[in-house]
Amino acid sequence: MARKSFPLIIAHRGASGYLPEHTLEAKAMAHAQGAHYIEQDLVLTKDDVPVVLHDIHVDSVTDVAEKFPKRKRSDGRYYALDFTLAELKTLRVMERFDPATGRQIFPKRFQKGLGSFQIATLEEELQLIQGLNRSTGRIAGIYPEIKDPAWHRAQKHDITRIVLAILRRYGYRSKDDPCYIQCFELDELKRLRGPLRWRGNLIMLLDTVANGPGNTDFNHLRTPKGLADLAKVADGIGPDIESVIAHDRKPTALVKNAHASGLKVHPYTFRVDELPKFAKSPEDLLKLLFKKAGVDGLFSDFPDVAVNWGK
Ligand code: CA
Repeated sequence: MARKSFPLIIAHRGASGYLPEHTLEAKAMAHAQGAHYIEQDLVLTKDDVPVVLHDIHVDSVTDVAEKFPKRKRSDGRYYALDFTLAELKTLRVMERFDPATGRQIFPKRFQKGLGSFQIATLEEELQLIQGLNRSTGRIAGIYPEIKDPAWHRAQKHDITRIVLAILRRYGYRSKDDPCYIQCFELDELKRLRGPLRWRGNLIMLLDTVANGPGNTDFNHLRTPKGLADLAKVADGIGPDIESVIAHDRKPTALVKNAHASGLKVHPYTFRVDELPKFAKSPEDLLKLLFKKAGVDGLFSDFPDVAVNWGK
C-alpha cells in the first residue's frame, strides 16, 4: 500500500492499551510504536495549568479519594479544577477504574495500582514528544482535545485561551504544523477560528447523543448540510466507529458526505479488547475502516496494531 494514503494513527490517550492512559510512559510507548499523532485530553487545575486527563474528574484514574477524602463536591466527585497542580502531583495515577466499585474498566490491561505514575502537564508532555521527535528523527504530531470548555468557562476558567498560548509557544500555529485541536463543542470551534485566531487544524468531534453544550446539534452536523456548514470552520470530524461502519458491515454515508465537503474523518476508538459486534477480528475492523470506509485517520488504544496493519 502506498504510504502516503495510509491513515493517520492517533495514539488514543497514548498507548493506553498497554499502560495507564495519559501517563508520560504511555506517550513514550506510543511514540516508540510509530504513532503518527499522540492525543492529549486537557483540563485545568485550580491554578490554571492545563493537565493531561480524560475527565474533569480525577477519581477514575487516581487515588484522590484516599489522599483528599474531604475535597469532593456535593455530587461525590473530585474535580481537577479544585486542586492546585502541586496537589495533583501528589496523586498516584493508575489504570482506569469505576470509582463506585474500584474495579478496573479493561480487565486484561495494565494491573491497577501497579507502578508509580503521575499526572502530567501539557507542557511536560509536549517536551517529551518534542524530545523524542529529535532523538528518534521521527516526528509524531500532537492531537490536543479541549475538554468541556463551556463548563470550564462557567467555573470562570478559560481553558482554550490558556491551551492556545502554550501550543503557540511550542511552535504549533499553522496547518503545516503537526497538530490537530479537537473539541465536542461547536461554539468553541467557532471561537477558536474567530476571536482566538487559531490557524491550525481543527476537528469537530461527534458524540452519539443528539445535542451537546456550546449549541452543538450532533444530528444536524452529521447531515450533508451540517457537514457543508462545518467545513467553513473545521478541517475534519471525529465520529465514533459505528457511525462509519454499520452493523451490516457496510460503510454509512458519513465518510462520503464528509469528503464531499472537504472534511477529513478520524473515527474513535480502535480497541482490540473491545471490538464492535460486527467485527470478526481487529484486522477485520481495520480493513473495513481503511479499505471499505476510507477513513483518513483512526484513534487507537493500540497504536502498534493499527500502524502495522497490512505490513
Ligand atoms: Ca479525547
